[in-house]
Amino acid sequence: MVKRLLKGGRVVDPAAGHDGELDVLMENGRVTAVGRDLPLSDGAQVIQVPRGFVIVPGLIDMHVHLREPGQEHKETIATGVRAAVAGGFTAVACMRNTSPVNDNAGVTSFILAKAREAGLARVYPIGAVTRGSAGEQLADIAELHAAGCVAITDDGHPVATSLIMRRALEYTRMFDLPVIDHCEDQSLKGDGVAHEGVYAAALGLRGIPGAAEEIMVARDVTLAGMTGGHVHIAHMSARGSLEAVRVGKTRGAHVTCEVAPHHFTLTDESLERPLKYDTNCKMNPPLRDAADVEVMIEGIRDGSVDVIATDHAPHHADEKNVEFDRAPFGIVGLETCVPLVFDRLVHRGVITLTRFVELLSLNPARILRREGGTLAPGAVADITVLAPDACVTIRRASLRSKSKNTPFDGWELRGAAAATIIGGRTVFVNDAVAGAEAFGWDGV
Ligand SMILES: [Zn+2]
Ligand SMILES: [Zn+2]
Repeated sequence: MVKRLLKGGRVVDPAAGHDGELDVLMENGRVTAVGRDLPLSDGAQVIQVPRGFVIVPGLIDMHVHLREPGQEHKETIATGVRAAVAGGFTAVACMRNTSPVNDNAGVTSFILAKAREAGLARVYPIGAVTRGSAGEQLADIAELHAAGCVAITDDGHPVATSLIMRRALEYTRMFDLPVIDHCEDQSLKGDGVAHEGVYAAALGLRGIPGAAEEIMVARDVTLAGMTGGHVHIAHMSARGSLEAVRVGKTRGAHVTCEVAPHHFTLTDESLERPLKYDTNCKMNPPLRDAADVEVMIEGIRDGSVDVIATDHAPHHADEKNVEFDRAPFGIVGLETCVPLVFDRLVHRGVITLTRFVELLSLNPARILRREGGTLAPGAVADITVLAPDACVTIRRASLRSKSKNTPFDGWELRGAAAATIIGGRTVFVNDAVAGAEAFGWDGV
């Protein structure tokens, strides 16, 4: 497909200052023109955008676990990117906790080669902060950067000590890379499995207090201020964490943060209702109480939260189908994110479509220093087509991800991704959305 013209859709692109009915012309994988009633250029395939659809820069999920190499029974890079495009994402950043750990150029190159072979969503590897993520010695960050890593993290674990975090922040300044931290004081977390609160107490589950996260966020914000490095707080869930981030931002520290959809849609009441001890409600950080959820929503509304990222964490049914204490932490998120954000945030008036694009496309692109996040002429032609009024029902069995561990099975939600376009090619059309077929699937 060399030339394509999307005609008459509502284009929302905050970086370019657009929100209105505009045409988008794509040529050879790039956007070449955006404007009102663009002339039909020679040889362009014209797609009349159905009424009500919205054209936005491709969504980027900056926090996913693709499991390959090492745990291909949960997910592979090929199945992960299939789930990504089905969820409306044109790019994903994948965490270091594969087996072997992505702490060297060999693993990074392997991931990039597999992603190229799969040919769907762009994949941005995130390398380890420390060798083997053991928390002792810095990994070879220069090597990881040269091989294509876009950030470093020990996600799954926190960056173990203040000293290592300091060194990582100092060193990454040379490469302009963010350090992403899974904030958790492990001595406070102990062997906790759920948020420390009334529900965990009633069910006899060991608790993880919000303070376990808040203490580590405060540490990282302080070190970001001290070093000038960029800290990105992963999957923020506790109210004190947001306070610390706000203070850091006011003081000029380079701090950004993300919230996962389950942390603004579910509370720890899910441990008891509708199902008791549902292991699909076991994640780390855990589902917090209603007051924490309220604060996360407020942060998303007022702009102190930069990004919504899913922390997509596939686990095989056999691993989750055990008693709560023994189940692994995490849920899949790529295919449920857009409907949850629409239904719970956009349609309830918490955020506008402009904020939607900032949270899911523009800010992740900026934080990872990647292309995308805008449809300005010259930009890569990665586009997500949204159908804000499409009603969808989440069905565990229909998920493209290899794993089905979601707590949202059966949820009826308004808003979905209708089609996903990467480099000008339509790589996904949502057959649950009427009219989406207008975007003409290009095959894979
Ligand atoms: Zn984590
Ligand atoms: Zn994670």
